Amino acid sequence: MKAVVKTREAPGAELVELDVPRPGADEVLVELMAGSICGTDVHIYAWDPGARVYIKHIPQILGHEFAGRIVEVGKDVERFRVGAHVSAETHIYCGTCIQCLNDQRHICETGRIFGLTCNGCFAEYFTIPERVLWKNDPRLPPEIASIQEPLGNAVYCALGDYDEDLDGKSVFIVGDGPIALMAVGVAKAEGARLTIILCRHEKRMEIAEAMGADLVLGDGPDLDETLCDITGGKGFDVVLEMAGSPQAVNLALKWVRIGGRMSAFGIHGEPFVIENYGEYVRSGKKILPISGRRIWQTWQEVAKLLGPEGLDVSPVITHTLPLAEFEKGFDLMTQRPKVSGKVILVP
Ligand SMILES: [Zn+2]
Ligand SMILES: [Zn+2]
Repeated sequence: MKAVVKTREAPGAELVELDVPRPGADEVLVELMAGSICGTDVHIYAWDPGARVYIKHIPQILGHEFAGRIVEVGKDVERFRVGAHVSAETHIYCGTCIQCLNDQRHICETGRIFGLTCNGCFAEYFTIPERVLWKNDPRLPPEIASIQEPLGNAVYCALGDYDEDLDGKSVFIVGDGPIALMAVGVAKAEGARLTIILCRHEKRMEIAEAMGADLVLGDGPDLDETLCDITGGKGFDVVLEMAGSPQAVNLALKWVRIGGRMSAFGIHGEPFVIENYGEYVRSGKKILPISGRRIWQTWQEVAKLLGPEGLDVSPVITHTLPLAEFEKGFDLMTQRPKVSGKVILVP
């Protein structure tokens, strides 16, 4: 079988011919139908410092976002049969640590991360433990099913830890990555009265509009004045910080209304200053860090949105390529200004 493998501690990856793996007792063997390239994969591919901490074993198969079909099950597998359409939660939780025992499996500290700390899904066949499998509706197109994992990030970000009702609320999204663009559709589908997104790239602005944003803003000297006009100076009920720069975090915090919530999803690796910190404390603004997806509450919400609620995330998918053309896919993801949304690989 063919697989996209990180073969060296250097930028790039190779298409390698490998034996089809055999599933362990608690694993299934999956035939890939569609795999989606994540920003994390791009960091690993480019071999930048942030990515190196994850990769413990080289050679390693890349990829963690997928839709596939089960072709073999291990002897202890109980809930899944051959032929089932599946995707999976990336966090292969341990099930026994303090977080796992407290319904916080998404922040399990001792588990593995599929495609990051162990082999992933950019291969014609791959194995994965039963406990992280999610059963897909076979009617869901594989490209769409393959982006449920990042869509789950968008859902968790938008709704927070307690599935906050967005009905009638105003939502401001800072950042224009694929998950931010999906969050536009999620906020609208969840009933937000006003969904505004701040974008940097023209291509991403187009996608945000197609996702139904009420207003797409670009950065500029008038930004604060515009936000002030829109909100009457009060700020937004919910702000999703999905860019990760110090400026974006400070902008997001500034424009959460008193008592509102900022979901912190963007990651910044260096220390930075939070302006007017005392004011945030006094005003009761809530900061909610978002890591992964709630298992399985977020996945259930994703399935509901893609099913009966009819959320259309197809505008975010801009390219579908054969697995063998993965290099072109990674190039599309790294071009500046941005030319793509989600890039999907199919066998
Ligand atoms: Zn991902
Ligand atoms: Zn655990």
